[in-house]
Amino acid sequence: MFYGTTRRRQVVCLSPELRKETAETALQIHAMIRDRVTPGPVSDARCENCSFVDFCMPKMCRRKSIRNYLKKMMN
Ligand code: SF4
Repeated sequence: MFYGTTRRRQVVCLSPELRKETAETALQIHAMIRDRVTPGPVSDARCENCSFVDFCMPKMCRRKSIRNYLKKMMN
């Protein structure tokens, strides 16, 4: 795997289980593309090395609790 931000390669051992999981994930991604539905951003440590971070803007899309917002505003 190649990480664009750090420009580093990581060797991944493709075991039969990982190959199966990868194929299943690819099917799920094809379904998301077909249905034009994508999951929301995760906004966690994975984003630090993700080459999509400038497009995804995970911190902008972070879901916040309305309850906490109202509680904060009332205090
Ligand atoms: S930047 Fe976006 S695509 Fe990348 S790991 Fe974070 S949420 Fe996922």
